[in-house]
Amino acid sequence: MSPQPAAPALPSWLTWWQRPFPDANTLLLPGQRPALVDTGFVGHADETAAWARAHAGTVDLVANTHWHSDHVGANALLQARGAAIAAGAPEAEAITRRDPGCCAAEYLDQPVAPYTVDLALDDGQILRLGDADWEVVRTPGHTPGHLALWQPEERLLVVGDALSDYDVGWVNLALDGLDAATTALASLKRIADLGPRVILPSHGPIPADPEAAFAVALRRAQRLVDDPDGAVWYGARRIFAFALMIRGGIPANEVEPYLTARTWLTDAARLLNMAPEALAAELVTTMLHSGSIVLRHGRLHAAAAHTSVERETLRVPYPRAWPAAEPR
Ligand SMILES: [Zn+2]
Repeated sequence: MSPQPAAPALPSWLTWWQRPFPDANTLLLPGQRPALVDTGFVGHADETAAWARAHAGTVDLVANTHWHSDHVGANALLQARGAAIAAGAPEAEAITRRDPGCCAAEYLDQPVAPYTVDLALDDGQILRLGDADWEVVRTPGHTPGHLALWQPEERLLVVGDALSDYDVGWVNLALDGLDAATTALASLKRIADLGPRVILPSHGPIPADPEAAFAVALRRAQRLVDDPDGAVWYGARRIFAFALMIRGGIPANEVEPYLTARTWLTDAARLLNMAPEALAAELVTTMLHSGSIVLRHGRLHAAAAHTSVERETLRVPYPRAWPAAEPR
């Protein structure tokens, strides 16, 4: 085997925390305005806040790449301790008006503790994080409000779930429309054109070769455009694996009723012209076959590396039951 190329060097003024699922990677920018980019899963909010405190003291600002549960889980806790929350404009507005679709939390059955957004971010806006200025780059696709953050002096690019070293973000054709894959591809091309020196993804390691990572991601994103059924299957596999991770697995005999009660599953079945029961069964069979889920002691588990979550931390209300956002 040839030696792995080393990841590009990071400036000393940021701290990168690569985390296994169900947490997104977390980026800390200490300095004049200590800031966090993304805050992990709700089940690990204490751990996220303690890590930030140890490395930066207080956190003044949290910026979210998007509102999925693995990116916004400690928002509520950090906000209670004085941090302001910044998020992409369409998601910020939906959270402020307590839209029941917030965070796709109910749709995906992924708990999020209630938070409010103090600062809505738009394309081209300059955001001070730590001691450096970052530019907001709207990158819809994985979610409609997804954004990347660009630091031009150091050529750093925070990409959220737009791509990782081995993967590209799944798209939700049922929720976001059949052109979501095309939108994601256009966003990917836009950020590839920035020519970053360092890609900071939300999952997995920092790619050693940013250009090669973009080449792979663009090919994968194009496949999602060319094969909508494949895109639906891809999303279903990712959502199901995440559900298994945050629950410590699901008893094998409860999996089908769990799946067929989920809106994401019935929506996917509709797009694939399948009965929900048939999709649930085929999802389990194909994922067992590929080794992405495993059966252990009567429970199905996700095979990918992940850390455990305390069951009671999942007990937070869906956004439809969140208290009204108080003006701050
Ligand atoms: Zn996401």
